Amino acid sequence: MASVNMNKKIYEKAVKVIPGGVNSPVRAFKSVGGDPIFVKHGKGSKFTDENGREYIDYCCSWGPLILGHADARVVAAVKRAADKGMSFGISTAAEECLATMLCKALPSMEKVRFVSSGTEATMSAIRLARGFTGRTRIIKFDGCYHGHADFLLAGAGSGVATLGIPDSAGVPAPFVKETIVLPYNDLGAVKNAFKKHKDKVACVILEPIAGNMGVVPPAPGFLEGLRKECTAAGALLIFDEVISGFRAGFTGAQGLFGVTPDLTCLGKIIGGGMPVGAYGGRADIMDKIAPLGPVYQAGTLSGNPVAMAAGIATVSRLANKSVYKQIEQKAEFLCDEIQGAAGNAGVPVIINRVGSMFTIFFTTEPVTDFASAKKCDTKRFAKYFHEMLKRGVYVSPSQFEANFVSAAHSWDDIRATHKAAAAALKKL
Ligand SMILES: *Cc1c(COP(=O)(O)O)cnc(C)c1O
Repeated sequence: MASVNMNKKIYEKAVKVIPGGVNSPVRAFKSVGGDPIFVKHGKGSKFTDENGREYIDYCCSWGPLILGHADARVVAAVKRAADKGMSFGISTAAEECLATMLCKALPSMEKVRFVSSGTEATMSAIRLARGFTGRTRIIKFDGCYHGHADFLLAGAGSGVATLGIPDSAGVPAPFVKETIVLPYNDLGAVKNAFKKHKDKVACVILEPIAGNMGVVPPAPGFLEGLRKECTAAGALLIFDEVISGFRAGFTGAQGLFGVTPDLTCLGKIIGGGMPVGAYGGRADIMDKIAPLGPVYQAGTLSGNPVAMAAGIATVSRLANKSVYKQIEQKAEFLCDEIQGAAGNAGVPVIINRVGSMFTIFFTTEPVTDFASAKKCDTKRFAKYFHEMLKRGVYVSPSQFEANFVSAAHSWDDIRATHKAAAAALKKL
């Protein structure tokens, strides 16, 4: 039965009609080598590829699947919604419902606008910040990824980092001229930039817990410092919580660290596996968006009723906050065990973890920014990835990515993963 490699067969056909055979670059396994796999179906903590092989999944669609694959309640909600119509281009009550849930969960968010991806959320939030302040420059951090909008493709981490594209072809230099890229966790650099660009900075945007250079938590005082600097300079502070929103806890990174942004970008989890993004924040800022204000932003499928249904089902389940305690416990246990196994195998690793998101860095030094992340042994990571794959565990296919524990991961899954990791690490 396993004599035909279906993954390979499909891949060979896919590369003929899709660039690289994939619709998002990191799926192509470029940084770890080998042919990508194709998924047939998933359930709970696991998915099955086209060869019929089952994997415990720690990528979880890059974060959205906090309840695991094909969660029964989410699937039922999606089916109910689809039965009533896939899209209208006219408002539905579901939009108000999810918007109210998000605003209630995140007190910094008085109003929210739905879009269809994280990329759209950050791009629109920055347009709004520029429209609101009347300024043009933005500050971002090296290794933080905010989607693929032109002016955000500078120092953009993960996919871009692994592919070794410093920027991107097709982005004219003037488009990133207003983008100031600083090292993550370096408040001094931010202070200097504000001195230099003072009245020209519209906003500072960051992942308040970085996930796209691998997991890097904010240094103590970093977020608080940014809040102070932004307020003093009259610039907006934008938290890109596309990963950390409803992941770092029900109130996201802003709740965890007690720092209030002016605008927040969301995505991933709030769509429960469907394409959803959102940006929101202070009402006086949000009211600058059309139709109330002069900042234009629109979307044919924005607030799509099927996507809203998946989001509502997911977020309402998370409102039972015991989910976070459980997934954090499992992630903590797993990371401790892997740290121990690495020690036994004589393989130096640094594990960064915030709640249920973590990265195993193959390095000897603490990873606090993109420069230290880049010192990792990516060849060793690639070997680890494939050794895990062989043992039925799918970890995110790049050194510079986060891994996620979902509510569907059982203690048996965690123990099996530890066992796989212990064996894999001995092979490195
Ligand atoms: C995934 C991600 C995005 C982009 O979201 P897409 O839905 O892929 O466009 C933006 N910011 C962060 C922090 C992300 O992790």
